Amino acid sequence: MNKVRRQIVKIDEEKCNGCGKCVSPCAEGAIEIVNGKAKVIKEELCDGAGFCIGICPTGALSLETREAVPFSEEAVKKAQAEKKEVHIEIQKCFNCNNTEMNAPLIPCRKEGESLWVCTRCLPVLIHG
Ligand code: SF4
Repeated sequence: MNKVRRQIVKIDEEKCNGCGKCVSPCAEGAIEIVNGKAKVIKEELCDGAGFCIGICPTGALSLETREAVPFSEEAVKKAQAEKKEVHIEIQKCFNCNNTEMNAPLIPCRKEGESLWVCTRCLPVLIHG
């Protein structure tokens, strides 16, 4: 497949501790833990949106622009259909424990920690 110059997630293996927190924010299923380290398993599954970045506690994730296989919605659908068991860890708002099933969650940083905050709590945290 022809490569194109585009934005894609970069994983610093030296910094990655294999905690797996970046797996579920990736709706496309591009990241898996392989031998204790996060990996983009197929370039065509990573859309380069970067929803995984804010949740990484060690700063191992970033975006880079390089030659890569183009993102493919078709490849995402195929990969999701092939997965026999999809393990999704339900995330919670650090402030009220609301789950992502009740309100959209947004990754944020607080006192050196990567956390999720729900859209109900966010205005209060911004405006007090
Ligand atoms: S969240 Fe960060 S440290 Fe944890 S597995 Fe993903 S890249 Fe590694």
